[in-house]
Amino acid sequence: MALPESEMRRAVNAVPAALFRKVMSRFATGVTVVTADVDGEVFGMTANAFMAGSLTPPLCVVSIARGAKMHARLADSQKFGVSFLSEQQAPLAQHFAGRAFAPVEPVFRRLGEVSVIAGSVGVVAADIVSTSECGDHTIFVGHIAQLAVEEHAPLLFYGGRYAALDREQRLEQLGPQSFW
Ligand code: FAD
Repeated sequence: MALPESEMRRAVNAVPAALFRKVMSRFATGVTVVTADVDGEVFGMTANAFMAGSLTPPLCVVSIARGAKMHARLADSQKFGVSFLSEQQAPLAQHFAGRAFAPVEPVFRRLGEVSVIAGSVGVVAADIVSTSECGDHTIFVGHIAQLAVEEHAPLLFYGGRYAALDREQRLEQLGPQSFW
């Protein structure tokens, strides 16, 4: 449910946007491209607001700005693909954020009933099972229909910049680190 206008204003006053962005950018993430197939055409959008939602049933979650074209496309398709980008695919992250620096030619492949980006670290195909208003974004919950992995180094996002995993910093002395 969207916040009432008065509460939205109070929230805005309490948390300066610059501070919000600065703090949220300190949460390191991967970088994905969310895809939707509409009337035989595929559309992509860069997103880092992705997470695994549930193991049983297998659910995942993406948060999409209500003002993004992808928002209406997801409502139309009722399905989405998520491609976790590799280090080599940083130009695609910029491209699908509408910030292309140089021309890139994305290559799509099919995963079940959706299109995903070829050469990604991991890909997911999901059917939208619920949505939830989240201020100026909507959270889309997808029931995972298909998944696949490829062995590439992942692309990361931290402090508003793209980054790569430092292989020296795996903190192996902490012991078992498998949570799934
Ligand atoms: P458009 O602006 O139309 O699409 C984006 C670009 O992709 C355009 O240049 C378009 O030409 C190109 N494109 C689309 N489909 C194809 C295709 N089939 N072939 C070739 N090119 C194509 N926003 C969120 O809402 N949620 C997030 O979690 C989020 N995370 C982000 C993380 C990062 C690291 C960055 C850089 C941006 C993030 N954004 C996020 C912002 C979002 O990516 C941009 O606002 C984006 O431009 C919105 O796209 P759109 O759906 O409005 O579509």
